[in-house]
Amino acid sequence: MSRERLYLFDTTLRDGAQTNGVDFTLADKIAIARMLDELGVDYVEAGYPGANPTDTSFFAEKRPAQAKITAFGMTRRPGRSTSNDPGLAALLDAQADAICFVAKSWDYHVRVALETTDEENLASIRDSVRAAKAKGREVLLDCEHFFDGYKANPAYALACAKAAYDEGARWVVLCDTNGGTLPHEVEKIVGEVCKQIPGDHVGIHAHNDTEQAVANSFAAVRAGARQIQGTLNGLGERCGNANLVSIIPTLKLKAEYAGKFDICVSDAALGHIARASHGLDDILNRAADRHAPYVGESAFATKAGIHASAIIKDPATYEHVPPERVGNKRKLLVSDQSGRSNLLAELDRIGFAIDRDDPRLSRLLDEVKEREAIGYAYETADASFELLARRLLGKVPRYFDVEKFDVSVEQRINAKGERVSVSMAVVKVRVGDELLISAAEGNGPVNALDVALRKDLGKYQSYITGLELTDYRVRILNAGTEAVTRVLIESADETGDHWTTIGVSSNIIDASFQALMDSIVYKLVKSGAPA
Ligand SMILES: [Zn+2]
Repeated sequence: MSRERLYLFDTTLRDGAQTNGVDFTLADKIAIARMLDELGVDYVEAGYPGANPTDTSFFAEKRPAQAKITAFGMTRRPGRSTSNDPGLAALLDAQADAICFVAKSWDYHVRVALETTDEENLASIRDSVRAAKAKGREVLLDCEHFFDGYKANPAYALACAKAAYDEGARWVVLCDTNGGTLPHEVEKIVGEVCKQIPGDHVGIHAHNDTEQAVANSFAAVRAGARQIQGTLNGLGERCGNANLVSIIPTLKLKAEYAGKFDICVSDAALGHIARASHGLDDILNRAADRHAPYVGESAFATKAGIHASAIIKDPATYEHVPPERVGNKRKLLVSDQSGRSNLLAELDRIGFAIDRDDPRLSRLLDEVKEREAIGYAYETADASFELLARRLLGKVPRYFDVEKFDVSVEQRINAKGERVSVSMAVVKVRVGDELLISAAEGNGPVNALDVALRKDLGKYQSYITGLELTDYRVRILNAGTEAVTRVLIESADETGDHWTTIGVSSNIIDASFQALMDSIVYKLVKSGAPA
């Protein structure tokens, strides 16, 4: 059976860039565009030339890519000609392979927001498509508020889409701009549209306001649409856009879609999709969502002992797809409730061959249980677990000793009369015969301690230069005077690896210090630093 081609259009750099708190630099945009190109999407919508300096400079030069680099902007303004509209001129001059226009398709918006007539809006769509085609660009039209517009006035919404298609637009994209449309409505309306415009010219742009952007995208495909628009990790304003990181594996791995459609993402690229997802989090300086479908740390994590032993026998018993297909890994959680099976499998994963009846296994299990009883949580802190196991099995070199540290926090009034806090840390470290003393200031006591600790590790310094702390989480476990603080630190390094370490103490600085130490020692072990 011959398969149909389904196209993927990424708008992380345009719609995703409109997210609260997201502010891509030009370098970020170039890096993300490259990542998307390697992933294999068909279109990379990179921004809005003329709208801001970053987007204007992105489109100032040709960016070579397999994907079609797409510029976004509005159709000509009502009452203007295409040759007398500076916004349209900037769009037409952009170094892009394709232009995606956005236009109103809800008559209510045409009247109230655009303050023009239905006919002038249609003329603006036709003129803009014609002008972009004359420039040799592939043309797409995003029909804003299409679904709400269709419910209010189906004939007019369709007329907008038809105007672009008849003028030669390659794609007419139906946008659920408010994100409130439900899958069965999307399926019905897209089906109606595909009777007028061939489905291989129809796209879907879904937002996640009812958490159904992915479902809405698939509903549109079932009804005939052949282009899906979305973003990495579902980045986008309000609740986000359709998440391509969930859509792509479903298209590739679920028989209903894989048997019917070809997409441009290769099997090899699919194997790197987790890395692309985490790469975006890194650029945004955000912690990855551990429960993200397919790529999250917990997506293939199993806790209960009985499941764990079944998974070891046959992973397919508890997994809907093999984790390695999407660049993720199986994770058996070591915790309170788990038995030997979990522990054995986890040890196996980190490279320890140990016999089921080895007495050290019971010792490790007891140790994990004792520590979890006082607040440690090894199921999240994979690196601390690995170090604990290695220490009990006698395999962690004593790289260095922190003989002493001193952290101070001073609060005072500065020259401007403002109240400021200054944190300072001094750390005394012994590395072999060398005694090293480092001092550092930080924006808080933990930061100062971290900076001082990693400032000078003598002969080990070169091994930790790529080490970066990416997240720091604190939780108070019991209320009142018995309070215990649990600190989780997430780290990453130059290879793109991530790991989590833990510290528990009644003192937040002590807890942080344990987690920091584990992270550094883990990095040294991982890098093969000599003892
Ligand atoms: Zn949007």
